[in-house]
Amino acid sequence: MITIDGSEGEGGGQILRTTLALSLVLRTPVTITNIRKGRAKPGLLRQHLAAVNAAAAVGAAEVTGAELLSGEVTLRPTAILGGRHRFAIGSAGSTILLLQTVLPALLVADAPSQLVLEGGTHNPSAPPFPHLQRAFLPLLERMGARVRAECERPGFYPAGGGRLVINITPAALLTPFSLLERGATKRVWGVAVVANLPPSIAVREMAAVRSILGGDEESFRPQVLRDALGPGNVVTIDVESEHVTEVFTGFGERGVRAEKVGERVAREARDYLDSNAVVGEHLADQLLLPMVLAGSGAFRTVEPSSHTTTQADLLRKILGAKIRFVKDGEQSHVVEIER
Ligand code: ATP
Repeated sequence: MITIDGSEGEGGGQILRTTLALSLVLRTPVTITNIRKGRAKPGLLRQHLAAVNAAAAVGAAEVTGAELLSGEVTLRPTAILGGRHRFAIGSAGSTILLLQTVLPALLVADAPSQLVLEGGTHNPSAPPFPHLQRAFLPLLERMGARVRAECERPGFYPAGGGRLVINITPAALLTPFSLLERGATKRVWGVAVVANLPPSIAVREMAAVRSILGGDEESFRPQVLRDALGPGNVVTIDVESEHVTEVFTGFGERGVRAEKVGERVAREARDYLDSNAVVGEHLADQLLLPMVLAGSGAFRTVEPSSHTTTQADLLRKILGAKIRFVKDGEQSHVVEIER
């Protein structure tokens, strides 16, 4: 039995999800204590509970503590079940964070799987769908697994109601790779999406983005979504380089001007373009686990976030992974991984 204290490091939901994910991959029982102890409302929220239940289903596992606000969970997996699964969060909680919990095991399962995930698809403080589809999944494909993701309906906070369909073709072994250079910038483009809000918001956001990044109107388009349950506004900027695509995201908020939303995300993209980082802050914490499963890897990134250092500590503790952060510039760090 592996026991992990969920209050260590970043102290949030990521420790729970990563521990469950590794429990499934290793088919080893785990207990997570002090779940999200570092948060204002600790314990399992609906989104985290859905992740625990999804892990139990994929792992044909016995589970204890799977209740709202529970501070301790034990999972005893017996298998990795590919095939079809449908998981509904029951709120606007992130379907993509739920996916992080079961995807590592399904990547190396004996059989392909199809997941239907219902809840939030474009959440602040989580990877939004465009980041999953265009930044993260292509890197998994480079490791030999095939993962296709489709957003059938967007789900924004607080209405939710989004739906993703994920098809996973596992790889017997994940192939290591390194990402030390971005290569030439091929294309920078953006979309400002509004659902059930005035289209002028998206037009103003794109103008603000162009005032910082330049580029023509063709490359930065407003888009009106008609099929979302509630209101939503998200701006994404894709930086497509020879060896990697990064996706930067900003969300419209009540009381924050559209120009501000556009400028913020454009600055993030500008900073990335001006740096020699290959992998941005969020992709960095998400890439560690698959790279450790592949056995080795390396990438150049920005100053590691507390999510990244917490993830590295967990992977060291549970898998004995060797992960080194080597500073090689003012903002730039190389992460080297061995298992
Ligand atoms: P909490 O316990 O704080 O409620 P949580 O379960 O909502 O936690 P975190 O532990 O904070 O989630 O993990 C959030 C994950 O979302 C991290 O992997 C982080 O990199 C990712 N993430 C956050 N913002 C973005 C973004 N803009 N683009 C891509 N990924 C993001």
